[in-house]
Amino acid sequence: MQDHYGHRISYLRVSITDRCNERCTYCMPQELQEWLPRHEILSYEEMLRLIRVAAQLGVSKLRITGGEPLTRRNVIDFVRRLPDIDGIRSIGLSTNGTLLVREITPGQTMAQALNEAGVQSINVSLDTLDPTVYSQITGRDFHGQVLGGIDAAIDAGFDQIKLNTVLMRGCNEDQLLPLIEFAAARNLVLRFIEMMPVSTREVLNESNFMSVLEAKRFIESAYGSLIPEREFRTNGPATYYQVPGRAQRIGFIGAMTNLHFCESCNKLRLTCDGKLRPCLGSYLEFDIMRPLRAGANDQQLKQFFLDVVERKPREHEFRNNYQPNRKMIAIGG
Ligand code: SAM
Ligand code: SF4
Repeated sequence: MQDHYGHRISYLRVSITDRCNERCTYCMPQELQEWLPRHEILSYEEMLRLIRVAAQLGVSKLRITGGEPLTRRNVIDFVRRLPDIDGIRSIGLSTNGTLLVREITPGQTMAQALNEAGVQSINVSLDTLDPTVYSQITGRDFHGQVLGGIDAAIDAGFDQIKLNTVLMRGCNEDQLLPLIEFAAARNLVLRFIEMMPVSTREVLNESNFMSVLEAKRFIESAYGSLIPEREFRTNGPATYYQVPGRAQRIGFIGAMTNLHFCESCNKLRLTCDGKLRPCLGSYLEFDIMRPLRAGANDQQLKQFFLDVVERKPREHEFRNNYQPNRKMIAIGG
């Protein structure tokens, strides 16, 4: 699948739930407590069918996300079926890390079960090493569990583990260097993410926004000039650097300030309530659940995907005061 602007679509992010066991300020404001009713959520069978159709159109990489994907029941049984889909070569999962350490069968953690089910790469959100600040950001006391979850992921032997940190001035700017040391000690890739206006308007303002350039300068004042790693790319839009004198790699995701951010976009999103979104930072979304439940055949679903890709915008609209019609948690990060 290729759009008007030459974006080749090979990557599908699938949000399997709008529910979460945390309440991150930038993602889901406190007042949003209402979850979608069950019948408005795609079943696993429905998701698998749509993924099969997408794979026939050239999607080879999947990322399972949410909400918090590990809060959905039987997630392991779902994930286990993904590697059997023809054409799918890469399976990743994004999580807040709180449930990775949980034993789901005697002696087996959720992290191990995911790895054995075929997940190759896992992204864990970690904005701070300070448990008090962690609770302020997430509204929950799960910091210890997340650190345990990261250890469980390391023990499980994933091909790649990345830590994701949302930059928040006045909140976690003092954590950038400790987080770099934390990641270095565990040989993990750490990425700093600019806050995006994907929640209520108050979430992002001039006083709490921190650009990736500022973060990079601050890091360079401590470690020296970061060395660009142009050859290294993951599936997403991060730019990567090596910390001088170390084998450590860190990344920056600057959706708000990097004017080239959308040039290499290869993504589509499927929300848990069956909407295809060609871009996170655009109002556009298309209801594929309706034709799916109305009995559309594979050819018709394929055409639906192609029509959505046809409408993929050149770039996101975050910089034009775009306010989404949905919270991040309902879109799937
Ligand atoms: N619950 C999982 C987690 O927290 O990693 C997966 C879903 S979450 C929506 C995916 C990613 O989006 C997380 O790394 C989170 O930090 C990020 N995110 C959420 N709201 C954001 C915002 N307003 N700006 C930038 N990143 C955001
Ligand atoms: Fe939940 Fe992840 Fe959103 Fe935090 S960022 S509220 S953990 S979905």
